[in-house]
Amino acid sequence: MSAKDAQSLETICVHAGVVPDPQHGAIMTPIFQTSTYVQPAPGQPLTYDYSRGGNPTRAALETSLAALERAKHAISFASGLAAEQAIMQALEPGARIIVSEDVYGGSGRLFRKLFARYGFQFDFLDLRDLNAVAAAIDSKTKLIWVETPTNPLLRIVDIAGICALAKKAGAKVVVDNTFTSPIFQQPLTLGADIVVHSTTKYIGGHSDLIGGALMTNDDELAEKLRFVQFAGGAVNSPFECFMLLRSIKTLALRMERHNSNALAFARALEDSGDFASVIYPGLESHPQHALARQQMSGYAGVVSVYMRRDMEGVTRFFKNLRLLALAESLGGVESLVNHPEQMTHASVPPDLRQKLGINAQLVRFSIGIENVNDLIADVRQALQR
Ligand SMILES: *Cc1c(COP(=O)(O)O)cnc(C)c1O
Repeated sequence: MSAKDAQSLETICVHAGVVPDPQHGAIMTPIFQTSTYVQPAPGQPLTYDYSRGGNPTRAALETSLAALERAKHAISFASGLAAEQAIMQALEPGARIIVSEDVYGGSGRLFRKLFARYGFQFDFLDLRDLNAVAAAIDSKTKLIWVETPTNPLLRIVDIAGICALAKKAGAKVVVDNTFTSPIFQQPLTLGADIVVHSTTKYIGGHSDLIGGALMTNDDELAEKLRFVQFAGGAVNSPFECFMLLRSIKTLALRMERHNSNALAFARALEDSGDFASVIYPGLESHPQHALARQQMSGYAGVVSVYMRRDMEGVTRFFKNLRLLALAESLGGVESLVNHPEQMTHASVPPDLRQKLGINAQLVRFSIGIENVNDLIADVRQALQR
């Protein structure tokens, strides 16, 4: 059976892209730590000629990543932002781009501080409001940049709804699928043109590497994006590709546990009454729970809360936690806690932060795969001490 025939994601995770090495039968894809390849005759390489252009370990990873998003093409990058940068560099300068107003802080910085200087125009909108999106689209709009669930407020954007609007206008849709992983949401099947991942997060899953990926079914777009990567060089190392291949084998298992832990954690915090509010798309109290259920098959591991404390009290809460570590990032096996206003979202313009509700009281958890009762107990003792 070839991995392509396997339909279920759990099986794809274990098998896709990985074939026994023809020389020795090694079941794991070797780390081809090489920059160049010997050619039998000038200009006639066997498969690869230089590792910026291609490498067997990276190719195995790309096959696996494509299968996960049910995509024809996947391109693996040095980081999530390097992948995003390639999308921007594949556009013609001067294009208008509609972006989620609460887009990942680093993406916002890339757009506002770097690409705005090259004549791109960004319209930051609340993409939950499809009427506002329809009104903002014009003939110069080439791209709609969706993130769902958003970070850190976990708003849900109707992917199919946005894609229908974009299609009418001839614009492409990018979905940043980092927050759910391909296990719980598959934007290409809902009409998106490109999926972007920070593989640093759930796909890597062990807080030990930086990586990114793009997936698409569009041959022409894939060729453009590959050219940008080849010309610019934002590739990840064979070692990191190997680490990602290893991580993907347990992706479905890990996501299942992230999901069940986060739901139990969110319910316990909500039931405790100790927080002003608890935000998680899997909770019935989430205002878009119905839409989340419709387009996602799980809600992953990020839970946000508003605390009933001032900044001093919030800082004391962080200090009192014993198990949950205060750190940026998310999606690893270990649970983390983050203060968006001071940490991950410090680069968001202050007035936008205020409008979105990213304030001193907002705390974001990335729930790992520990025993959830230990996590709930940690929060409880940190509140009481
Ligand atoms: C982390 C992250 C990125 C950026 O990825 P890097 O690997 O850090 O470059 C982009 N989008 C989202 C949603 C992220 O969480």
